[in-house]
Amino acid sequence: MSTADIREANVGAVCRLLRERGGLTRAELGRLSGLTRPTILAVVQQLVADGLVVEEGQVKAASGGGRPGSLLHFRSRARVVAAVRMRGAQFEVTIADLAGVVLADSLVPAVAKTADWTDVVAAFAAQITGLRAARPDFGPLAAVAMTLPGSIDRARGLWTMARLDDWSDLPAADALAAAVGVPVGLVNVVAATLIGQLAMEPEPARSATLVYLGRGVGSAATVGGRLIDGVTGSAGELGHCVLPGIDEQCRCGRRGCVESVTSSLHLSREFERITGRPAPATLAEMEATGEKAVLALLERAACRLALAASWQVNIINPAVVYFGGNSFADRSTWFFERFAEELRALAHGPNSAGLAVRQLSSTSTVRGAIQVASEMLPAFLRPALRVVR
Ligand SMILES: [Zn+2]
Repeated sequence: MSTADIREANVGAVCRLLRERGGLTRAELGRLSGLTRPTILAVVQQLVADGLVVEEGQVKAASGGGRPGSLLHFRSRARVVAAVRMRGAQFEVTIADLAGVVLADSLVPAVAKTADWTDVVAAFAAQITGLRAARPDFGPLAAVAMTLPGSIDRARGLWTMARLDDWSDLPAADALAAAVGVPVGLVNVVAATLIGQLAMEPEPARSATLVYLGRGVGSAATVGGRLIDGVTGSAGELGHCVLPGIDEQCRCGRRGCVESVTSSLHLSREFERITGRPAPATLAEMEATGEKAVLALLERAACRLALAASWQVNIINPAVVYFGGNSFADRSTWFFERFAEELRALAHGPNSAGLAVRQLSSTSTVRGAIQVASEMLPAFLRPALRVVR
């Protein structure tokens, strides 16, 4: 280890203790970290100068006299991260502190699809800068993450499959980084959702999968605590696995894909065909009709989705399968239960025993984007959990 590495490790140890334990004196920091008093004094001096640590309050000296010690606190707002998320025709910008607490957010109309990509990046950058500037009490921006639909080559920062006409292989990370002046990470929206869910768990599973139901069907997986990306950033395309015996046309041009018979697009279209009424906006409202034909439609889709998920479970052997998606899938109960039951029944015994099947929290996507941004911070400020590397 170089001197710089040792210094960074020491700074990291002090930050971690202050973040986990709250106010501590220099003496307590020394005792808990095992670092020498001169090292603690130097590290604390540096952190105070950087605004990351403040002295607030005092504790009495231990019996036997000596000087009272000032309490040191980590300032989570000394740096902020931003998350940018495309949400249909809008985009959402969220600013969070180093503890992942959301400080500000805004939802604004996205620039027209016909706009040049550089205009889109400029609009993102202006929103981030504007939100940050409105609150001078927040520290400087330190990292940004952008969640996008489609395929993402995270290593090269490319949005390889933008699913928008004429846009592919966009150097999205570099373009936004140049505009905001801090590192930018890209992450697929489904992967971000799984990362966010894991970040909110008190004891996140090391291997977990997510089945994401929206206008399409996607999935994401972590194995041994790391997100699976794949060579082209397209890992997790559960929705485009072909089910035998199905002739339905998929958006991808092929026939029989899982999403062609399980997505919100399919369920809404079939609901309208069966009932002759406009489809409600959510799965929960479809369930609530209680109509036999509607429930049969949902049951068929839940079982097909479970069949696809069971292959993924047998291949990966995760501890948890999360189910959720966009607002369409929020608060579904009947569909979720059918899915979970069928998944447990179809998965191979050793993979099914002890398998937890859980619903997502509705805030996991934005939490995931914040997590991805936080994982790009310098080592001593990174969160303890690190899924993306
Ligand atoms: Zn397809």
